[in-house]
Amino acid sequence: MRDVVIIGGGPAGLCAGLYAARSGMDAVLIEAKFSGGQVGTTNLVENYPGFEHGIGGPELAMLMEQQAVGAGLSIEFESCTKLELEGDVKRVHLTSGEVVDAYAVILAMGAYPRKLGAKGEEEFRARGVSFCATCDGFIFKGKRVAVIGGGNTAAEDALYLANICESVTLVHRRNSLRAENALVTKLLTNPRITVMWDSVVDSFEGEAKLETMNVRNIKTNETTPVPVEGAFVAVGAVPNSDIVKGILELDESGSIKAGEDTRASITRVYAAGDIRTKPLRQIVTAVADGAVAAAAALQDIGLRVHNEPPRQICGFVGDPGAVQLVGNTV
Ligand code: NAP
Repeated sequence: MRDVVIIGGGPAGLCAGLYAARSGMDAVLIEAKFSGGQVGTTNLVENYPGFEHGIGGPELAMLMEQQAVGAGLSIEFESCTKLELEGDVKRVHLTSGEVVDAYAVILAMGAYPRKLGAKGEEEFRARGVSFCATCDGFIFKGKRVAVIGGGNTAAEDALYLANICESVTLVHRRNSLRAENALVTKLLTNPRITVMWDSVVDSFEGEAKLETMNVRNIKTNETTPVPVEGAFVAVGAVPNSDIVKGILELDESGSIKAGEDTRASITRVYAAGDIRTKPLRQIVTAVADGAVAAAAALQDIGLRVHNEPPRQICGFVGDPGAVQLVGNTV
């Protein structure tokens, strides 16, 4: 029996783990792949405070992991297959068959890249079409590539690829970018980057590998075949919330509904980071959520212990984790 289980090892989950461990909670974090989440596949993070010249995403992720583990967080690299959140005891089922029980669950599963839905997108995946410039960019060294999207990810990807590739064509469906101004200025003044405004990709084509993408101007309806060896889709992210569909309240985009206190629609369940309904998805807002979620969990578990003995309300006999929390919160 743990005090808190954290699902997802991106900035939100790692920061929740850091705060939970430092506050004396017995915390375990479950991560399916590697620490860092989307940050782990970001080449350079330039807007995280404290790093004047930016920091590599994998390096930042590693530092966050080391700090949390150093504080006492356990990390298990496994997938979560099922969540039972409604009872007093929260149960987290893992692929190994192990079931982790806890008083509280912090959900920090983040988001995964949205697909365009264009013809050939799936067929040419790993044969030219990619969703991660940092992971696959080097394959296209000295070649012609495209980035599709107009947000921060697309702008960062285009700038990253412009350092490696012969040319980068940015395809965006509107005539202005959503990305922050500092990135837009760099992008528009980079001689290797060309922008196709008001344009969408209708299809990716080629023989064994990607050779051409057909780009349609939505104002003129004219289609231009653009020769490229690589195409990077960066059109936003979809919350990784399938596992809690029908269990927790979600908004229309699939994000978990929770306020700034991160409390979700079931007691002692919290949503932190990109998976939560929120106005600004950044590393700083994700780590802030993690800290708030850990503090809320501590408060909620502590208050229960303070008001009623845990063995009566939760049905646990002599649980040392709960007793420890009395000292921390009362
Ligand atoms: P985003 O901000 O949601 O932008 C997605 C972009 O893709 C938008 O320009 C959107 O066009 C376009 N798009 C969406 N669906 C499309 C479709 N079906 N076909 C063509 N284009 C489509 O996503 P993001 O750039 O991945 O960023 C996600 C979050 O992470 C944001 O909150 C972002 O600020 C944050 N982020 C921050 C940083 C940073 O600060 N360093 C880096 C990366 C990401 P419209 O503009 O027309 O809607």
